[in-house]
Amino acid sequence: MKHSFQTEINQLLDLMIHSLYSNKEIFLRELVSNASDALDKLNYLTLSDDKFKNLEFNPKINISFNEDKNTLTIEDNGIGMNESELIENLGTIAKSGTKGFLNALSGDKKKDSALIGQFGVGFYSSFMVADKVVVTSKKALEDKAYSWISDGKGEYEIQECVKDSFGTKIDIYLKDDAKEYANRWRIESLIKKYSDHIAFPIILSYDEKQTKEDKSEEIVHKDEQINKAKALWKIPKNELSDDDYSEFYQTLSHDNSKPLSWIHNKVEGSLEYTTLFYIPSRAPFDLFRVDYQSGVKLYVKRVFITDDDKELLPQYLRFVRGIIDSEDLPLNVSREILQQNKILANIKSASTKKILSEIENISKDDEKYKTFYREFGKLIKEGLYSDYENKDKLLHLCRFNTTKGEFVSLKTYKERSSNDNIYYIIGSDLELLKNSPLLEKYIKDDIEVLLLNDEVDSFVMPSLGEFEGLKFKDISLDENKDDVSKELLDDYKEFIDKLKTILDGKVKEVKLSTRLDKSPSCVISEGSNPMMEQLMRQMGQEIKEESPVFEINPHHEIILKLKDLKDDEKLKDIIFILFDSAKLLEKGTISDANNFSQRINKLVMMSV
Ligand code: ADP
Ligand code: MG
Repeated sequence: MKHSFQTEINQLLDLMIHSLYSNKEIFLRELVSNASDALDKLNYLTLSDDKFKNLEFNPKINISFNEDKNTLTIEDNGIGMNESELIENLGTIAKSGTKGFLNALSGDKKKDSALIGQFGVGFYSSFMVADKVVVTSKKALEDKAYSWISDGKGEYEIQECVKDSFGTKIDIYLKDDAKEYANRWRIESLIKKYSDHIAFPIILSYDEKQTKEDKSEEIVHKDEQINKAKALWKIPKNELSDDDYSEFYQTLSHDNSKPLSWIHNKVEGSLEYTTLFYIPSRAPFDLFRVDYQSGVKLYVKRVFITDDDKELLPQYLRFVRGIIDSEDLPLNVSREILQQNKILANIKSASTKKILSEIENISKDDEKYKTFYREFGKLIKEGLYSDYENKDKLLHLCRFNTTKGEFVSLKTYKERSSNDNIYYIIGSDLELLKNSPLLEKYIKDDIEVLLLNDEVDSFVMPSLGEFEGLKFKDISLDENKDDVSKELLDDYKEFIDKLKTILDGKVKEVKLSTRLDKSPSCVISEGSNPMMEQLMRQMGQEIKEESPVFEINPHHEIILKLKDLKDDEKLKDIIFILFDSAKLLEKGTISDANNFSQRINKLVMMSV
């Protein structure tokens, strides 16, 4: 029966087939990876499910080719697919790898084809090299077999067919310009490059001409294992090279770039397990999506259990890729058991500590740490409010923009401060923050202030408490630093009352400021924070703007002049301009831009 591909699949296929793409060879990695997944699934069932116990199962992947017919075949004896699974898995985007890719598409062909290299895009990548693909599959313990046939142009056909044993066979009819893949050496080198550590044997079948003693030639059929087929994480560290680790990372993550770092750890004692974690050098595309894919695979005694458990590591470490292989868990662990399993909780907590110390290691190399922090710094901050146990470690890992520099650690802050507080200011825009009038006194007094403009800052910072005895302090909540003298207060009383009348309903209070140096005035939005408001606005929520406190600088020339100004109309205009520009400096916008500009025009008219 004929079926149409889902629209998005067509888009993807079109891209595969028509866009120039330099890294076609990864199709083999994708097909072998699917075969290996299918073997993992059946392997697990034969060990955990009585129905499958008697199945004869020697997991392997077989690759064969025909140079004359220009074909390539990849076959596995894994779980297999029935008719509805063929439709669902190879005709819709229900499946993950591909879906993520499609979500990341920009519409720009050049950029999009680069994306293919960055993400594993799975089965459909076969159409980069194929005119036609035939998938023949029989699901384990089921009777019927089906074939799925397509040229990748809008439609595919499914027919019942005959297949002796369970598993999946994929026949690739190579395009003319992809003949190179029907070649023993090419296949072997690709498997070495991408799939050497697939845990099941990959067997290459080929015919070889041999010359006999009597000089006559005969064709000999050979089956040769071409990968190591060993779980890399079980190999002792000292037998593994950096290249081994990097290659395994690429097999595991489908990411072509080199990992930034890795931690390979074997634990023995009351609990036995092996972990191998990678810190990537760039963030996966779905890092900030709710439906991100977990990057950690759980194995029990080398048997793959799941790659879909987001609880294996804390959420803020979701960029980590790797493997946990436990000797103690039962093979038939269910999801529910996994959730509250003590063994896993133990592994999780120990792994978290390991990963954090590795990040600390990276932080000793400034350049490397900048790469890390650019990609994952936000997540470290996320950890600050979710991982109380490791808060101190995480605080040490944070880096900040400050009034004295970039990429400043709290340790450095502490070393050059003579204060009991760590001062910070939160806003939506770094440039606005740098120029905030609220900083003036601090700068004058040589006190360093952290400038925070990450979305997470407004959630995280207020809950931090302290760092090595220093208290975190939001300078916009900090009261005036010194008291205002009685004389000044008396002197300004009348003027301030006047301002209160002018700004009635718009301000909570008008005060003499001691925090200002060069600016005439500023606004302080108590209890609100610009980041939070912006977030709420993005979520479509209405926010009631709280009236700010308006502070004026009694030593500033403008204020001194205004105090003696007799023209009330003019005073009103100027006060509104000062008030609005102070708001502008705080938020980057004002609600009543129209009035603001009219008042400015009026003043300009007077002075020209
Ligand atoms: P992904 O591997 O990321 O899920 P793919 O496009 O590579 O995406 O594969 C889509 C789905 O098709 C797989 O999730 C799997 O269910 C199914 N599939 C592909 N190849 C095989 C195979 N050799 N045996 C069994 N199922 C397969
Ligand atoms: Mg796949």
